[in-house]
Amino acid sequence: MPQELTVPSTIARFVTGASPSMLIDGAFVPAVSGETFDTLNPATGGLLARLPAADAPDVDRAVAAARRAFDSGPWATMKPYDRQRIMMRFADLVEARHEDLAILDTLDMGAPIQRMRGNLRRAVGMARFYAGLTTALRGETIANSIPGDFHTHTLREPVGVVGAIIPWNNPHIAFIWKVGAAIAAGCTVVLKPAEEASLSALWLGEMLLEAGLPNGVVNVVTGFGETAGAALSVHPGVDKIAFTGSTATGQAIVHAAANTLKRVSLELGGKSPNIVFNDADLDLAVPGAAMAAFTNSGQVCSAGTRLFVERGIYDEFVAAMTSYTRSLTVGNGLDGDTQLGPVVSQTQLERVTNYFEIGRAEGAAIASGGKRLTDGDYASGYFVPPTIFTDVHNEMRIAKEEIFGPVVSVMAFDDYESVIRLANASPFGLGGGVWTNDLNQATRTVSALRTGTVWVNCYGQMDPAVPFGGYRMSGYGREGGVEHLDEFLETKAVWTQTH
Ligand code: NAP
Ligand code: MG
Repeated sequence: MPQELTVPSTIARFVTGASPSMLIDGAFVPAVSGETFDTLNPATGGLLARLPAADAPDVDRAVAAARRAFDSGPWATMKPYDRQRIMMRFADLVEARHEDLAILDTLDMGAPIQRMRGNLRRAVGMARFYAGLTTALRGETIANSIPGDFHTHTLREPVGVVGAIIPWNNPHIAFIWKVGAAIAAGCTVVLKPAEEASLSALWLGEMLLEAGLPNGVVNVVTGFGETAGAALSVHPGVDKIAFTGSTATGQAIVHAAANTLKRVSLELGGKSPNIVFNDADLDLAVPGAAMAAFTNSGQVCSAGTRLFVERGIYDEFVAAMTSYTRSLTVGNGLDGDTQLGPVVSQTQLERVTNYFEIGRAEGAAIASGGKRLTDGDYASGYFVPPTIFTDVHNEMRIAKEEIFGPVVSVMAFDDYESVIRLANASPFGLGGGVWTNDLNQATRTVSALRTGTVWVNCYGQMDPAVPFGGYRMSGYGREGGVEHLDEFLETKAVWTQTH
């Protein structure tokens, strides 16, 4: 039996059944109502913590604090040098505590510790990347054609108070990604983490204070989407919502934001196509395509869940991928050997296993998996094996709907034109992959796919400096890259008459 990690003392207060508070205006406080909700460990079903269930009055307090910190506090007017210094200190704290942050997120949402540890460079790299961007903000001087002596230039100014709403699938990364860019631009933030995984957000909020962030610049309100999230989305004191989550929630947020015409950026779901041509290097493509769909138990927005394999290699490919998939180790994320942890919750378990029934009823075949794991240690957690559906058609629900579990739908294709048509026949447009040794084939496929990212002979790589986001119903706006700051900046045109 492999050794499981023990809980470090730094995070014991979050995971031993206690009641941590949420962060408003630099203080840790309960909900105004006194209500709490339970957050569980998906590997065991056990209680980790009872968290404040924020509702509209708590959101009001947090928004008022963020408003004060923006309108009269030091943050928006602080020199870039000083903002950068605080953010670099924060990055150092994240680096020093990353192992414990990784354990905290593994306990909270189940992902394997090896995956969470692998986030180190991205987590710290993002914090440093955004710290760097604080000193890279700039406008333009523009040549105008007005007779007389008029000078025109632009100023880039922070958009104001940001309501940040994030999902549970990679909690500490999602926090640093959203908050890093917003505060680098000079905004202040009220962040609502997902109810399933709020713990690392509370700890990271505390680290920001420790790094010297002024009170009220970043507030963390824990609670449910329908209450706290909805209150944030309609709040007149919020200038912008930066949302990551499902397409349906994104649509609800756009409606809620319409009253005040607040800015909205959306990182939503997907059903990303992954295309393997006959000439692909199968030693790369087989594990690559499997993990494109299964990593993080499929709880990845850009997962390559529609796998198109060219007819000439289809049978060989499916056989090799099935045997690779059966070799994957599913277990408690704290076990260092685990490659796939549980799915995040009972709800998600039911959703994923329901798609097993839907796929069967639609006439797809199952090459591997397809049934909840319940033996021994699996019994009390939410464990699903990686599952391969074959004989799938692009019109089946299992090929159209985001399952957000370790499930891939494999389809054979006959030629380039038909696979591009099928790949683009989806309302989503987040990720995409192509596996081939033919440079021309790769190049034209990259151009033809209507998605915000395309990976060539690889899948799923992310970097702070590379923009990420969706076409079509996968959202709008880009996160990552220098352009991420544009999401949090207004442009002011200035006319000056000189004489
Ligand atoms: P979700 O149900 O949309 O929830 C996302 C966040 O929105 C949570 O914090 C949720 O709160 C909150 N929320 C729910 N209803 C709300 C409402 N009416 N108003 C305001 N906020 C509300 O998505 P999820 O199940 O957590 O995450 C999975 C989804 O996220 C997938 O569709 C995935 O593709 C997408 N995702 C996208 C990206 C990307 O970058 N494009 C990255 C990761 C995930 P509660 O959960 O606490 O109720
Ligand atoms: Mg949890």
